[in-house]
Amino acid sequence: VTRDEASAFTGFAANPLDRRAGLRVNAEAIRSLAAGPVRVVVMCGERMVAAPGPPVEAAFDVATAARFGAGPDIFLGVGEDGTAWFGGQSQRAEDALKAEGLMVRDLRPLMVERAVDDATLAILGQARGLLVWHRTHPRCARCGEGTVIADGGWRRSCPACGASHFPRTDPVVIMLAHRGDACLLARKPVFAPGMYSCLAGFVEPGETIEDAVRRETLEEAAIRVGRVAYHAAQPWPMPFSQLMIGCFAEALNDDITLEDAELEAGRWFSRAECRAMLEGTHPEGLFCPPPAAIAHTLLRAWIEGAG
Ligand SMILES: [Zn+2]
Repeated sequence: VTRDEASAFTGFAANPLDRRAGLRVNAEAIRSLAAGPVRVVVMCGERMVAAPGPPVEAAFDVATAARFGAGPDIFLGVGEDGTAWFGGQSQRAEDALKAEGLMVRDLRPLMVERAVDDATLAILGQARGLLVWHRTHPRCARCGEGTVIADGGWRRSCPACGASHFPRTDPVVIMLAHRGDACLLARKPVFAPGMYSCLAGFVEPGETIEDAVRRETLEEAAIRVGRVAYHAAQPWPMPFSQLMIGCFAEALNDDITLEDAELEAGRWFSRAECRAMLEGTHPEGLFCPPPAAIAHTLLRAWIEGAG
C-alpha cells in the first residue's frame, strides 16, 4: 500500500498481504504454505468467528480452526512476517461455536467497535468477500451443475461443462455532490436515527464512473451534475464484495426532489454543519458515517477544501 494515496485512509484498505497470485494454480505450493505458520479466518455462514478479547482474536492456527470446523480452504496471501493467511467456512452450527465461548458476529460491528486493528480488518474483509462468494455461488451459471473450488479459492470450476467462474466484486459509485459552500447528504430508513451520508449506486454495464455518478444523482435527488472528480476508493465486503469509488460531483441545480423510494430525506449541508456532524457536535444531533466508511473520507476532504 502506498500510504500517501487518499484510498489508503479508507476502511478495509490497509491490507498488508502479498497475495502471491502466481502460486494459486500450484496446489502443492499452497499445501506446503498451509503446513507452515498459518492464520485461518473462520466464517460461520456470513458471520465472523472470533475469540473474545481483549484483544479479539479473529484468526486461528490450523489445529484451532479445525476444532472450529474450518479448514485452510481459501488462500488469501502471505504476511510480512511470512505467515500464510487462509479463509475457511465452518461446518459447525453457530450455537455450537458460541457454546465454546466464541463470538459469531457480523463484520460491521467489529469494524464500528474497532475490535481489530486496521490491517486485520482489511484481511477479514478480503476473506469475507471471497467466502461469501463461494457460499452463494455453488452452481455453474452456464449449465447448473455443482462447481468445485480451484486455484486456491480464486476460481470455481464446473466439472460438467468446463466453465470457469471467478470471484466478483461490484463497482459502486459514492459521491459527494457540492454547490458553493453546501453539499448534498441523504438518509435511508435503515440508517441509525440522525445519520446522513452520500448518495451511492451501482455502476451499470456500458457506463463510465462519471456517467454513473451523474445518472445516480439525477435519479435519486433530481440534481444535475457537471464535473466529476475521482477522489479515493475502498474495498467494501458487506453484504458482498464491492469496490466503492468515491467522487466529488459538481451540482448544477439546488432544488432537491427525492425520487428514489429508498431515501427518506435529503438536504444541503454547509461545511460548518458537516464539520459538526463529523465531530459529533451538530445541534440537531445529526452525524455522518464512521471513519472506516469512505463517505467520511469524502466529507472530511471536502471540508478541508477538496472537490
Ligand atoms: Zn457448467
